[in-house]
Amino acid sequence: MRKYIILTLATILLGIGCDTQQNMTPSTVLPPPPPPLPPLVDKLDKPENIILLIGDGMGLTQITAGMYTQGNRTELERIKCIGLQKTYADNDVVTDSAASATAFACGVKTYNTAIGMDRDTLPVKSILKFAQDNNMSTGLIATSTIVHATPACFFSNNKYRRNYEEIAADMVGSDVDFFVGGGKKYFERRTIDDRNLIDELKKDGYVISDFAQKDIVDITPALDKKFGYLTADTDPIPVSGGRDYLIPASELGLEYLDAKSADNGFFIMIEGSQIDWGGHSNLLDYVVSEFMEYDKVIGMALDFADKDGKTLVVVTADHETGGLAIQPGSTMDSLEAAFTTTKHSGTMVPVFAYGPGAENFQGIYENTEIFEKLKNLLPSETK
Ligand code: MG
Ligand code: ZN
Repeated sequence: MRKYIILTLATILLGIGCDTQQNMTPSTVLPPPPPPLPPLVDKLDKPENIILLIGDGMGLTQITAGMYTQGNRTELERIKCIGLQKTYADNDVVTDSAASATAFACGVKTYNTAIGMDRDTLPVKSILKFAQDNNMSTGLIATSTIVHATPACFFSNNKYRRNYEEIAADMVGSDVDFFVGGGKKYFERRTIDDRNLIDELKKDGYVISDFAQKDIVDITPALDKKFGYLTADTDPIPVSGGRDYLIPASELGLEYLDAKSADNGFFIMIEGSQIDWGGHSNLLDYVVSEFMEYDKVIGMALDFADKDGKTLVVVTADHETGGLAIQPGSTMDSLEAAFTTTKHSGTMVPVFAYGPGAENFQGIYENTEIFEKLKNLLPSETK
């Protein structure tokens, strides 16, 4: 009897050992993410408004370089709740802006190039749509085209990020109250069909204007209409080349959505799109000038939150770009930069949160949890 028990035990133990061997994860397969942390919202007031600020490619070194360049100061220093997010995609340790935006906008890890679609190319619903379900007003601002990966993941579902004309068509019927970005040609001079999306948007209750008609500072959007402003025919130019709409558009967007939403609150995503393009070009000046402009938007959002008292501001990146390092020999006035790649890198990126619910963003977590955390803070969520 005892012999039998010992034998059985040995078999079980051996079995466990074998199983462990067989299940050993090859180094290329990523382990499943840990379960999300329980939300802390029951202890805290929920925000009325959410401002999500995405610096594309804005890793810690991009922030540091910008901070030193502007006299060792960044608006981000006003924020005390800080976390780190893991940016890897479902099929690659190094994410692109589409998979990462799908992760924080829609809550799923997916393949690189996916716009609001999961790994099986099934559409997933974004935080902007959940905000609309809560009767919140919504807005999107980018310094890329508005159909570029980061903003696209909030209003579109497409299996491939470069289907710009298809993505533009998803703006019709999206009910986004306020959008500003480039890419006019994808709306009105289309190759896949003869649709004029600008006319369709006008029929859908929008006032649409663009760079060729009016400067954005000369526009006061009517609150009983939705508003779209196309800032360039294709990609907007860098800030160093004279692009100047991000700050007035952000000011206008906050003012407009605040007034329009009344007590229902608003959700807006404002992207500093070209911090990433500076990284891809391995040009420190490009990175820093784009960051310095974006830092002003961060300051503006924090000022709005201070005044309003009911606004959550979350500032993060989708990934780092360029593998940027500040080299020995640097001074604050003259940084010696080195880039390890013209692509993205796989490092974690910081998350800064300010206002009601900010505590939820402390710690180290998956990029998909940004969606979960934001969703838990919406009025309809009881958790
Ligand atoms: Mg982007
Ligand atoms: Zn990029």
